[in-house]
Amino acid sequence: MSYDVIVIGSGPGGYVCAIKAAQLGLKIAVIEKRATFGGTCLNIGCIPSKALLHASEMFAHASHGMESLGVEFSGVKLNLEKMMAHKDAVVKANVDGVAYLFKKNKIDAFQGTGKVLGQGRVQVTADSGETQVLEAKNIVIATGSDVAGIPGVKVDIDEKVIISSTGGIALDKVPERLIVVGGGVIGLELGSVWNRLGAKVTVVEYLDMILGGMDGEVSRQFQRMLAKQGMEFKLGAKVTCVEKTADGAKVTFEPVKGGDAQTLEADAVLVATGRKAFTDNLGLADAGVALDNRGRVEIDENFRTNVAGIYAIGDVVKGPMLAHKAEDEGVAVAEIMAGQHGHVNYNAIPGVVYTQPEVASVGKTEEELKAAGIAYKAGKFPFTANGRARAMETTEGFVKVLADAATDRVLGVHIVGFGAGEMIHEATVLMEFGGSSEDLGRTTHAHPTMSEAVKEAALATFFKPIHI
Ligand code: FAD
Repeated sequence: MSYDVIVIGSGPGGYVCAIKAAQLGLKIAVIEKRATFGGTCLNIGCIPSKALLHASEMFAHASHGMESLGVEFSGVKLNLEKMMAHKDAVVKANVDGVAYLFKKNKIDAFQGTGKVLGQGRVQVTADSGETQVLEAKNIVIATGSDVAGIPGVKVDIDEKVIISSTGGIALDKVPERLIVVGGGVIGLELGSVWNRLGAKVTVVEYLDMILGGMDGEVSRQFQRMLAKQGMEFKLGAKVTCVEKTADGAKVTFEPVKGGDAQTLEADAVLVATGRKAFTDNLGLADAGVALDNRGRVEIDENFRTNVAGIYAIGDVVKGPMLAHKAEDEGVAVAEIMAGQHGHVNYNAIPGVVYTQPEVASVGKTEEELKAAGIAYKAGKFPFTANGRARAMETTEGFVKVLADAATDRVLGVHIVGFGAGEMIHEATVLMEFGGSSEDLGRTTHAHPTMSEAVKEAALATFFKPIHI
């Protein structure tokens, strides 16, 4: 069978690319080895984790978050089986939605493992072992990523006691003690879920901060907030061993700066030390497709690999491993293959940690601006001075706006607080249009809203805030 485009992988990168390319009039085939569409994000990533974050947040809130509002509950009980059923139903609705969109856009979907045979040819091997060869003018590799493990440490992940994020969204009972190896987004989100449901959570992190790469001030404040919620942190700690014991597992770690090793025991250990590009069984070496030094498919600024007609997008290429980055690359590459000028603005990709409170960030951090020698001004506004936040008892956190000292162009916005993941988008749009802190500060914001803190932080950047 012959197509304009064969997309390998149906995650946010692949499925969005397929739909966009079909909308632009191209004939598309998608190959997916999983039984359902939607990739890591819909099946075992973004969507199920957010379903559990929301449900566990409701549990925590009902258990001890509303007395001061005059709302009292008694006998709040956790029904973990039902919570997991909610998560599964949400996943099903989303993956079925992708199947519907493929049909609607007349996209041919093939269940099986895709292997690139060379320019324009892909072999599909179904679970039954049956193979067929598809042909196309262009191929898009969108095979995503997989759990990376701990560098230099042999870890036997059984998804029951020693778990990755995949096991972390599917435990059938709340562990009494949970060790999370890795203080990045996934570790902190899933750590929060189990902490709220009653686990004693300890995060062991190599760096001397959590959320490495995020704004330092945001990271420190966020750590204090999570500590207040009961999570414990061992920072600057290098894990040297993770192993099962008779009644759980133990983690051994030593100070990165040197010193005595320490061992912690727990009922479960979540290994959340990052993800790596997934290119297994893709046939890339034989097809002559080059990888970079981190095993990612190498691409140019138009998503082209070194082999003509073969493109790559999403987690399998460089850049932040985020679903919306993969989606936007999917749109851009579809436009390019259709003869248009697709592109992605990597300076304005928001990142969100969906804990409570949330952390959201777009653009440069103060640390990055300092390292690049860019003169900047910073304006900050705390939610303690925001009327709506007081009304909702969501006064933890702040907004920080960073703008170029000479031009006032906004270079970065960082928010820690309730609803940060929604509020960040006004900053993202502003940055997409090259706006200044004065543009943001002079834009009318509805009162009373949490977003007024964004306006006030912008006012603080170019002159003075009103309400503090
Ligand atoms: P993937 O979603 O990984 O999809 C790749 C697909 O390709 C898979 O379905 C795989 O089965 C298939 N495949 C691989 N090889 C082959 C082959 N040879 N033949 C056929 N099919 C193949 N990102 C966010 O932006 N927000 C979040 O809140 C968020 N939360 C996350 C929570 C967790 C627990 C995890 C693990 C990740 C989370 N992410 C989140 C990251 C996000 O899931 C990824 O960035 C995103 O899924 C990448 O999309 P992709 O299309 O590149 O790859």
